[in-house]
Amino acid sequence: MLRYGVQAAFLLLTVFIGYRFYQFVLHFEAPGHPFVGRPPSVDAFLPIAGFMSFKYFLFTGIIEPMHPAALVMFVAITGVSLLLKKGFCGWICPIGTISQYLWMAGERVFGRNFRVEKYTDIALRSAKYMLMALFILLIGFAMAPNMMVLFFLSDYYKAADVKTMKFFTEMSSAAMWFLVVTGGLSLIYKNVWCRYLCPYGALLGLFSKVSPVKIQRDDSRCKHCRACTAHCPCLLDVEKSSVVSSPECFSCLTCVSHCPEAGALAVTVRAGKVRRPFSPFLYPAILIIVFYLVIGAAMIGGKWHSQIPYEEYQRIIPVSQQLGHP
Ligand code: SF4
Ligand code: SF4
Ligand code: SF4
Repeated sequence: MLRYGVQAAFLLLTVFIGYRFYQFVLHFEAPGHPFVGRPPSVDAFLPIAGFMSFKYFLFTGIIEPMHPAALVMFVAITGVSLLLKKGFCGWICPIGTISQYLWMAGERVFGRNFRVEKYTDIALRSAKYMLMALFILLIGFAMAPNMMVLFFLSDYYKAADVKTMKFFTEMSSAAMWFLVVTGGLSLIYKNVWCRYLCPYGALLGLFSKVSPVKIQRDDSRCKHCRACTAHCPCLLDVEKSSVVSSPECFSCLTCVSHCPEAGALAVTVRAGKVRRPFSPFLYPAILIIVFYLVIGAAMIGGKWHSQIPYEEYQRIIPVSQQLGHP
């Protein structure tokens, strides 16, 4: 229940941010529409920009000023994954939440969700890792920092947030069909996008492997009822694991909340050679605090708001859809 509340709150926040950004764009497109300040957190929808900025920062020590919040969000999201597993996916990401609403609706309508057999599942899951590897090759290796400067200064990059919004508000028929098919499949199969296609989730999963936080099962207390396995949204066989270390695990704690045996399943943190359990209520609190600490530090340090001037937006927003990749 707590997780559903946290997820709903972040989803509503995302809708609010999206609406504010839409109003901001409208000011430059519809004469007379009042000015609404640009919400910097809209840059969360530019994860590739965040990755590029991260590399640029590592090489130059400079935070690019056009979409600084993209870098901040990238650091916040990967940072919480390194520390606290893939909790971003299980508690914060609005796409993960929508995916969950879809499979829950499907479960109600059809009475169950479907599964593909093990080896087909493994083959399909490789798609997100291939996409991740492609981005790492293109940005991490092929793109030199001096090429990035030119890209950061381009109108295409400055309008990247507007173009992302227009992807949804002026959707092409190909994109619409893709969303319809993915959404339809998500009704009958759990987390299709997250499980098979999301390169960001693939990266977070790899980061989560080194996190000191893990779900641990105590075999001496376990009654092997399999409630944990039956309720896992990531289709993990929790009852067969002593420590859940799969990169698929969303850290949603659904397994912990469904375990009927006190102490049989717990969220734990590594302390030296042992694992210490801690309250499942503390987990989301720490997750959200760490996430907002990064954002708060960026705000205080003046690295949150875009430095694109008003006059520049006046020039690029009305022609954003005509801007091509430099
Ligand atoms: S896998 Fe991707 S879309 Fe799914 S919850 Fe994680 S980051 Fe969001
Ligand atoms: S193993 Fe537990 S915490 Fe991980 S995804 Fe499954 S139910 Fe959630
Ligand atoms: S729900 Fe708890 S008792 Fe049942 S199999 Fe899982 S860990 Fe064991």
